[in-house]
Amino acid sequence: MYEGAVQDLIDELGRLPGVGPKSAQRIAFHLLAADAADVRRLADALTEVKARVQFCETCGNVAESATCRVCADPRRSDEVLCVVEEPKDVVAIERTREFRGRYHVLGGAINPIENVGPDDLRISQLMSRLADGAVTEVIIATDPNVEGEATATYLSRLIAPMGVTVSRLASGLPVGGDLEYADEVTLGRAFEGRRVVGG
Ligand SMILES: [Zn+2]
Repeated sequence: MYEGAVQDLIDELGRLPGVGPKSAQRIAFHLLAADAADVRRLADALTEVKARVQFCETCGNVAESATCRVCADPRRSDEVLCVVEEPKDVVAIERTREFRGRYHVLGGAINPIENVGPDDLRISQLMSRLADGAVTEVIIATDPNVEGEATATYLSRLIAPMGVTVSRLASGLPVGGDLEYADEVTLGRAFEGRRVVGG
């Protein structure tokens, strides 16, 4: 197709989620035509994010030190834990300003087709966090799709026998979608109207 560096760039861009071959080509030629300073900033941002950002030891959220901002905040409640699939879901829920507890990021959802089982997620870490009894409610905020529902069912069966209240976000979220695509008002309402499952 193209020679050397241009093709390498198109190949790398094409490996990104949601970027097909045509988009990869368009982005590559956009970068070729862009100012060197703009491209340098992008390259620096990519290098920096890998050098500086890590995952929080406690909750699995993105962090710039061993502990993320939410876990480090003394004003937040230790009694309510919200379980989400990805760090981007933490951002979506924070935007609603409805939640003042802590988070636990699983790192995905149970998905037999993609060979993702419970052991591939941060579930044992979640159980360790619940062991000392400080958490009284776990809100499961996995995505409103098949994998998210399967994960929620699995977790509620695991957690409810521990005497912890397990709740699930209320319906009204776009079914089959991603939590992050719900607008703040809808997500906020789903939080307020959460229902207890099991326990
Ligand atoms: Zn954290």
